[in-house]
Amino acid sequence: MSYIKLFFIDIFGYYEWWMLWLSVLVIAIFAIILFFILHMTEEYKKFRSISLYNVIWKWKYKKNRIISLWCYCPECGSALLCDDEYCRSVTTLTNKTTFLICKNCGNIEKSRVVGGDRNYLLKIVKFEIQKRIKSGAYKNRTHK
Ligand SMILES: [Zn+2]
Repeated sequence: MSYIKLFFIDIFGYYEWWMLWLSVLVIAIFAIILFFILHMTEEYKKFRSISLYNVIWKWKYKKNRIISLWCYCPECGSALLCDDEYCRSVTTLTNKTTFLICKNCGNIEKSRVVGGDRNYLLKIVKFEIQKRIKSGAYKNRTHK
């Protein structure tokens, strides 16, 4: 207790009983505010899957970046195969198609995305995810 008194005397030149309680209160308020800020900015990190193009997309976060983004079968949950070989043989963008295939379901096509190859597809999915994080729309979804 005497150390605390000395601390206040050192800084303010005097000590009153309320100074200690005021400091405790201020520290507590700051701690609560900090907790809420951290909690709120991290909240979007619970958002780790979405249904787009009829398949399930899952990813992780590294700091603020979306990593390990990939698509999964909505029926069996297996990772899908991405066939964009076709994209190399065509020159016009509108003919480029990426096929998402589930090997586990018997090589069934689960989805096809027109407009580009797998890099294009990953980019637009990432864009859709970031759009939902920014707008806060991910909070309203029911899909887990
Ligand atoms: Zn499947």
